[in-house]
Amino acid sequence: MMQIPFQKTIAHVARVSGRGYWTGKNVSLTFLPAEPDTGIVFRRIDLTGEPMIPALAEYRSDAQLRTKLVCDGASVEMVEHVLAALYGMGIDNCIIECDGAEMPAMDGSAYAIALAIEQAGRVTSDRQARTFKIGESIRLGDQQVYVQANASEQAGLTLVYHLDYGQGSPIPSSSSTCLLSPAEFLTSIAPARTFLTHAEAMKLQQSGVAQHVTHRDLVIFGDSGPIDNQLRFPDECSRHKLLDLIGDLALCGYRLEGMVFACRSGHNLNGRMAQQIRNLQLDPDESLIKAA
Ligand SMILES: [Zn+2]
Repeated sequence: MMQIPFQKTIAHVARVSGRGYWTGKNVSLTFLPAEPDTGIVFRRIDLTGEPMIPALAEYRSDAQLRTKLVCDGASVEMVEHVLAALYGMGIDNCIIECDGAEMPAMDGSAYAIALAIEQAGRVTSDRQARTFKIGESIRLGDQQVYVQANASEQAGLTLVYHLDYGQGSPIPSSSSTCLLSPAEFLTSIAPARTFLTHAEAMKLQQSGVAQHVTHRDLVIFGDSGPIDNQLRFPDECSRHKLLDLIGDLALCGYRLEGMVFACRSGHNLNGRMAQQIRNLQLDPDESLIKAA
């Protein structure tokens, strides 16, 4: 018999702080328990009126190498690791107070945030969780770069990521799979760090961003592997891509049941998949009009 999932929030307040990659600014996050049907909502406590920004696909805005949310002129960015941590740890409702726009980079992974959520504990409400069972396949992208959502015989959400930047790239090709659960997320996905090639890192710093970031704050690949660093998993890069995928899919606002396969996809395509799923759930007729 299938177990009915109920909405969960955190049992206690959790706090995390650190500097953002792009701005270098120190930001504090306070995760607060929230009522059923709140969803995941950011609150900018540093701005007048403390505006709320719901973590839903309709507020997603395109930004370079990160996921940004904008609502009524207030924004938060680099939210993907925070959202992945909440989704991966099975939290449906939470208010995240932040005193800046850019989320803390930590060590480039979601481990510190996932651990803080794990330590805060979970409370189950008597309200059923909003779930979306993937039925008909949805595919976005082209032959080389795509995301595909399918129905699955297996209960829960299975995710697969295939990373392949070609033979010329210093980043090795790899594939990673996970059947999402809080335990699996905490040990196998959350610790996987973000990465760049040395050339990409140089280019970003020359453009004036991420001045304080060193080789130890993420994984930087030179021609002969990670520079001044060691990988936590042989397939750390594709595991990190799974982490990003989870954070971006969280913007659909539902717990997903089925299978999502992604090949070389990034935040834009992942976010569009979340929007597509959201459209199907919100109003099937409306989504047909939008697709036309
Ligand atoms: Zn990432």
